[in-house]
Amino acid sequence: MNFHIITIFPEAFDSYLKESIIGRAVRDKKIKIKFYNPMDYCEPKRRIDDRPYAGGPGMVLRPELFLKAFSKIKTGKKVKIINFSPSGKKFDTAYAKNSAKKYTDIILISGRYEGIDARVKKITKAEDISIGDYVLTGGELPAMVLIDSISRQIPGVLGKYESLEEERVSSSEVYTRPEVLKWKGKNYRVPKVLLSGNHKLIDEWKKRKK
Ligand code: SAH
Repeated sequence: MNFHIITIFPEAFDSYLKESIIGRAVRDKKIKIKFYNPMDYCEPKRRIDDRPYAGGPGMVLRPELFLKAFSKIKTGKKVKIINFSPSGKKFDTAYAKNSAKKYTDIILISGRYEGIDARVKKITKAEDISIGDYVLTGGELPAMVLIDSISRQIPGVLGKYESLEEERVSSSEVYTRPEVLKWKGKNYRVPKVLLSGNHKLIDEWKKRKK
C-alpha cells in the first residue's frame, strides 16, 4: 500500500510513523509513505494562504499550490483520494478494511487554518472524510489515524502478538503480572475469572467488559 500525503507540515509525521508497528511496516516495505508539500510550489514572497471570499476570520489555502503537489503524485490504477474535513463521512473500521483490500494507493489531503479552497476537492474528485465530531487545527492527525488503522488491516503488518482485535474476543480491560498489585498500602487483584483457565467464562467476561 502506498500512502501519498499532501501537507504543508510533513515534519509533523516524523516521530509517529517511525515507531513500533507502523515503523516496522515501513521498514518491511509493507507500506510506503510519501509526502508532497504545496509549500514547494509557493512563489517567492507570496503566501500559501489567502483571505476568504465573502469575509471571515480564517485564511484559506491557495488551490494552485495543492493542485501542483497533487499532479506530482504517481500511482497505480486502484487509487482512493481523500480530503479531510470535520463534516465529511465518518471514518470507521469497515472503511479501513475495505480500503486495505481495494486500493494500492491512497492520497490523503491535509488542510490547515480555515481549510483548502474547495475547488481542489472538486478537481481531484476527493471524498470528504472526518475522523470524528470535533474540529482539529489540521489534517495531519487524521492522516496518521487513517494510515495507522488501514495499515493494521494489511496482511503481515500485525505480528501474531498483536493480531487483529476485530477478529477475536478482546477487551478494553486487560491485566498483566503481578497477580496482586500492592500500591500505597492497598492490594489490587486481577479478576479471578482470568486465572480460571475456563475459556468460555473468560470470553463471556471479556464481552461484558467491552
Ligand atoms: N473551516 C472548516 C474547518 C477547518 S479545520 C470547517 O468549518 O469545516 C482545518 C483542517 O483540519 C481541515 O481542512 C481538515 O483537514 C482538518 N480537520 C479538522 N477537524 C477534522 C476532523 N474532525 N476530521 C478530519 N479532518 C479534520
